[in-house]
Amino acid sequence: MIWPIPGTRAAHAYLLQQPDGLVAIDAGYVGSDGAILRFMRSRGFRPEDLKWVVVTHHHVDHAGSAARLCAQTGAQLAIHTADAPYLASGRPKELMNLWGAIERLPARLARFLLTVGGPIGRRLEDGDTLHGLRVIHTPGHTPGSICLYSEAESAVFVGDVLNNERGLRRPPWNVNHNHRKAQLAARHLLGLSYERAFFGHGPPIERDASRAITRFVGELA
Ligand SMILES: [Zn+2]
Repeated sequence: MIWPIPGTRAAHAYLLQQPDGLVAIDAGYVGSDGAILRFMRSRGFRPEDLKWVVVTHHHVDHAGSAARLCAQTGAQLAIHTADAPYLASGRPKELMNLWGAIERLPARLARFLLTVGGPIGRRLEDGDTLHGLRVIHTPGHTPGSICLYSEAESAVFVGDVLNNERGLRRPPWNVNHNHRKAQLAARHLLGLSYERAFFGHGPPIERDASRAITRFVGELA
């Protein structure tokens, strides 16, 4: 069972119910943890039912509430190895894109714009499986951007590799760590078959999603 979580800030977050507990995919911008906990309660879950918070990448609109949500529930945080350093002190310096500009702000302001770190329970690699979700490393938007594929749910969570705000699109150059790689990242999804696709930004595709995404990626070639 997959639910989009209502009321998270900036980017969408999702809850996946598995036999052995709940997984949150992304956690929204800073201050979204309350909305996630409220939604869990409304479905009859307790905070401790949440086992993992998996973030598709380190950006604050996806991971901003992740550490706090883990602290409040006992869930563990999972992130790709290449994005993990961004959640630690002495984080890598960003390039001169929008994120790079943010790093030049005073720390007091930057904490609303950069993800606050926390203990990392698992560093993910391409091909890993976590609670039925297969990790697909799709670098470019960030070094450790991932998509998550559930064969059982016939669904893929694409993070910011693609958005669906005005039809399928790739993220613009000024938010990408490596624009050339980001342009090609969705190719890593080719060959997978799934009915539904869930985006960080924009509504889900509920039917025949792999065909829509394969067609989109093909048109870019
Ligand atoms: Zn992003």
